[in-house]
Amino acid sequence: MTPFDYSRAATPAEAARLGSEGATFIAGGTNLLDLMKLEVMTPDRLVDINRLDLGGIEETQDGGLRIGALVRNSDLAADRRVRDAYPVLAEALLAGASGQLRNKATTGGNLLQRTRCYYFYDTAMPCNKREPGSGCQALGGVTRLHAIFGASEHCIATHPSDMAVVMRALDAMVEIRSAGDEVRQVPIGDFYRLPGDTPQIENVLEPGDLITAVVLPSPRAGRQTYRKVRDRASYAFALVSVAGVLDVEDGRIMRPAFAFGGVAHMPWRNAEFEAMLDGQPLSSDLFDRATAHLVADAKPQDGNAFKVPLLKRTLRAVLRELTEG
Ligand SMILES: Cc1cc2nc3c(=O)[nH]c(=O)nc-3n(C[C@H](O)[C@H](O)[C@H](O)COP(=O)(O)OP(=O)(O)OC[C@H]3O[C@@H](n4cnc5c(N)ncnc54)[C@H](O)[C@@H]3O)c2cc1C
Ligand code: SF4
Repeated sequence: MTPFDYSRAATPAEAARLGSEGATFIAGGTNLLDLMKLEVMTPDRLVDINRLDLGGIEETQDGGLRIGALVRNSDLAADRRVRDAYPVLAEALLAGASGQLRNKATTGGNLLQRTRCYYFYDTAMPCNKREPGSGCQALGGVTRLHAIFGASEHCIATHPSDMAVVMRALDAMVEIRSAGDEVRQVPIGDFYRLPGDTPQIENVLEPGDLITAVVLPSPRAGRQTYRKVRDRASYAFALVSVAGVLDVEDGRIMRPAFAFGGVAHMPWRNAEFEAMLDGQPLSSDLFDRATAHLVADAKPQDGNAFKVPLLKRTLRAVLRELTEG
């Protein structure tokens, strides 16, 4: 690990100011410290944000939840309001990492964890995300974990977070405080960027921007579930995952919201797929057509072509679970 300076921020304003001067925030450290040990990230200054007052979960005026950026994944999954009104979020959190990691991992850090692309972690390999312009070793390499949607010729990595997938299905907003003390909320669908020709830029954060909270809209009626397919039963990242939320009224699907993990640089959502389902009577034929439409523009690599049928089957299972009984 290369040497670095360390300080603790006492206020969000101080953290944001130090961030704007080039410091890197550390929250749970469960991703950042691994990357520093491997010298994939070599910040020369860390600002510990753990003492900031960002650890609360509060109800908002419109009946939603405001989740502080430092709320630990275990605490969020165990919160009674989350379990009752957003059970899909608790499911996704508990499907991620291990108990020990979830006790440290924070809401903000989870959104910003880096890709698990093998080559990104290996500094002997070219990687446009780690070192812009050096090339992409994954192309033509081992691509089991890589993207089938939205990738570019410069990067085919996926975003690894389970929590972020559900946040996308729930239309969460990311609350950000800038070094200039401005607070803005960004829909999570606009927060992440696809790789394009700048895969090193992963989201809309500017230097010094501190995530202060994630805000969930008021809970919706209906059914919700998260299904994650992975190589081991636990302690593994998603090959594909599906977060599904919908209601069934008079035998028709109402207000479907689906997000997909393990398939793109960001939690993936497809408005046309949801529109095909919305208001339609339940039918096996409808599910066939909609799932086929979802994967129609998939562009897999040799090593991850299996994700296309796997995603279809997983989605069919989720649709059955949410609409039967
Ligand atoms: C073995 C292992 C298995 C795992 N399995 C899974 C899994 O199955 N599913 C899953 O979703 N995750 C998994 N994880 C990842 C884990 O969930 C993340 O490491 C964790 O959520 C990151 O949170 P953190 O608070 O530790 O972030 P840190 O490591 O502290 O920070 C991560 C990044 O976010 C930045 N940051 C942190 N907080 C803020 C903030 N408030 N504002 C701005 N920037 C901020 C940091 O500067 C850093 O760049 C696994 C991790 C490990 C080590
Ligand atoms: S897929 Fe992206 S992260 Fe992986 S080696 Fe290529 S550029 Fe790097």
